[in-house]
Amino acid sequence: MKCPFCGSFDGQVLDSRPIEHTSAIRRRRQCNQCKKRYTTYEKPEDITLMVIKSDGRREPFDRKKLWAAVSRACVKRPVSTETIEKIVSEVESEISDYIMEVPSSVIGQKTLQKLLDIDTVAYIRFASVYNKFADINDFMTELKKLKKEHDKNKTKKK
Ligand SMILES: [Zn+2]
Repeated sequence: MKCPFCGSFDGQVLDSRPIEHTSAIRRRRQCNQCKKRYTTYEKPEDITLMVIKSDGRREPFDRKKLWAAVSRACVKRPVSTETIEKIVSEVESEISDYIMEVPSSVIGQKTLQKLLDIDTVAYIRFASVYNKFADINDFMTELKKLKKEHDKNKTKKK
């Protein structure tokens, strides 16, 4: 980063923090030549969003993979390609609030909530793949919880 005062490239970052409700990062920097401080804003558009998997491994967010997973869950269900595209786009836009890393469970939950509105069978299929439930009881608890939230939201909308 070039110092706006003396043009030196010799500087250091004092502090980095995300700006709330955006995907930009604000950095306080200090020039090592003139010792002046300045602020830069960086948008991580060119930074690949990494997905943190349940075992802690990271992999780049892959839209195609999510698309494939959703469409697999919707096989032979009355869900149009357009709807699948809508689900994936919405999830993608919601996770863009995350800076650099997003837990895979967040992607799973967001997708599930959308599927629940659309098709219960697709929802259950997706849940069984995405959520590593310890046993069937965990799964049923989660399903009931989501169902309850779903019904609550429905009532609210009326
Ligand atoms: Zn300087």
